[in-house]
Amino acid sequence: MIIFGWRVVFFTLTRGIFHCPDCGGDRDYRRRQGRNFFTLFFIPVIPLTKTGGEFVECDTCHGRWNPGVLDVPTTAQLAQMPAMLLRMAIAQVLRSGDYTNAAARSRAVAVVRQAGEPAYEEAALNADLGRPFEEVRVEMGRAASALAPEARESILRAAAEIALVDGPLSVSEEETLSAVGADLQLTRVQVTGVISLARQESGH
Ligand SMILES: [Zn+2]
Repeated sequence: MIIFGWRVVFFTLTRGIFHCPDCGGDRDYRRRQGRNFFTLFFIPVIPLTKTGGEFVECDTCHGRWNPGVLDVPTTAQLAQMPAMLLRMAIAQVLRSGDYTNAAARSRAVAVVRQAGEPAYEEAALNADLGRPFEEVRVEMGRAASALAPEARESILRAAAEIALVDGPLSVSEEETLSAVGADLQLTRVQVTGVISLARQESGH
């Protein structure tokens, strides 16, 4: 007697680290997809159709999720985000003014170091200044949504403070601060408030 049937076999497409909603932390995952197989004596022999969509499976709790779960930043990514956003905000504001100003540059480096990148220095600042504007904006928008409003305001505040190191804000510096504020998903009222506080404190 020949025993035949069908069975779903799962294949791993890619692996990586994600934020597992069930474990509540960073975990290894497998991105997988099932495929129907024709079986002979319980052994899959002929691949048939693919079943359903791809899914993400947690290596730890074996929970299965829609691949959209991979858009949620991991804890490790979140920890780096404020410093990364700060770098981008500062670089944009700095290049809208006099980016050769030594005082503004050294203040920029010091602020990023304090924010959690102790190895940041002039060469890295120059690289940040040279990054394409559009690329930076996309990255900022994506990262900003994961941060609390207070964190986003303090990033804009630091950028405003650096723009004010070499004197009152120029029109282009002010426009850039508004654009950075918008990229940080702050309202106009929030942006205006942050800039006027920075102005008061700097005396310009
Ligand atoms: Zn899990």
